[in-house]
Amino acid sequence: MPRLLVVEDDETIGSVLESSLRAHGHQVGWERTGRDALRVAAETDFDLVLLDLGLPDLDGVEVCRQLRANNPTAVLVILTARTQEMDVVVGLEAGADDYLTKPVRLAELLARVRAHLRRVSPAPAGAQPMLEVGDLLVDTGSRRASVAGTEIPLRAKEFDLLARLATTPEAAISRETLMEQVWDENWFGPTKTLDVHVAALRRKLAGVADRGVVPRITTLRGHGYRLEVP
Ligand code: CA
Repeated sequence: MPRLLVVEDDETIGSVLESSLRAHGHQVGWERTGRDALRVAAETDFDLVLLDLGLPDLDGVEVCRQLRANNPTAVLVILTARTQEMDVVVGLEAGADDYLTKPVRLAELLARVRAHLRRVSPAPAGAQPMLEVGDLLVDTGSRRASVAGTEIPLRAKEFDLLARLATTPEAAISRETLMEQVWDENWFGPTKTLDVHVAALRRKLAGVADRGVVPRITTLRGHGYRLEVP
C-alpha cells in the first residue's frame, strides 16, 4: 500500500485530504508543522508527500529542499495559493515534482496522486526497452540513465521526461504531449513544471558532457522540445 504524507497546518484542509486519500486506499500520515514533517520523513520512506508551502514554523520551500535531500525517491507535490506563482518555481527548483494550487480540487488531486504513484511503481521486467541516443543509455527497466557507465542521478519525473524524449530522438514533441504523457493524461493548466524539469535535465546532461556524445534538449519555440545528438 502506498505511503503518503500530508503536511498541512490548516485543520479543515488537512482532515479532508487525509480522509479522502485514506478512502482511496492509501496509508496516510498527517503532520501540521515543517519540523514534524521532517522528523517523520526521517523515520519512514514515504512514496508521496503533499506539502503545503505556508507552514507555521519553517519555510515550506526549505522543508521541500530537506525532504528532497533525505528522500530522493519520494514524489513531492507542493500545495500553494494561486496568487503565489513564484513559490511554485522556487518549490520546483527546491526539488518538488509537481504542484497543485489552492483551493485544491479533490478530484484533480486524487487523479494526480494516482498518476504519480502509478509511475513510481516498478515496471514489469522483460518488456522494458533500453533506449540509446548517442552515448546516452536510458534503461526503462531499472529506471537508470547513464553515459559511458557514469550514472546520471535523476528524480522520478526527470527520468520519465528523459525516457519520453529518448523514445523518439530527433523528433519534435509538443509541450502538450509531454505534459499529458509524463505528468497526467488529462492535463490542463500551466506547464511551468515542464520548463523547470527540462532545465534540471539540461544541467544534469551538461554534467556528463565530457563522458561521451551526450544529446541535448533543444527548445522549439511555440511548440515544444526535441532531444538531439549535437
Ligand atoms: Ca498553511
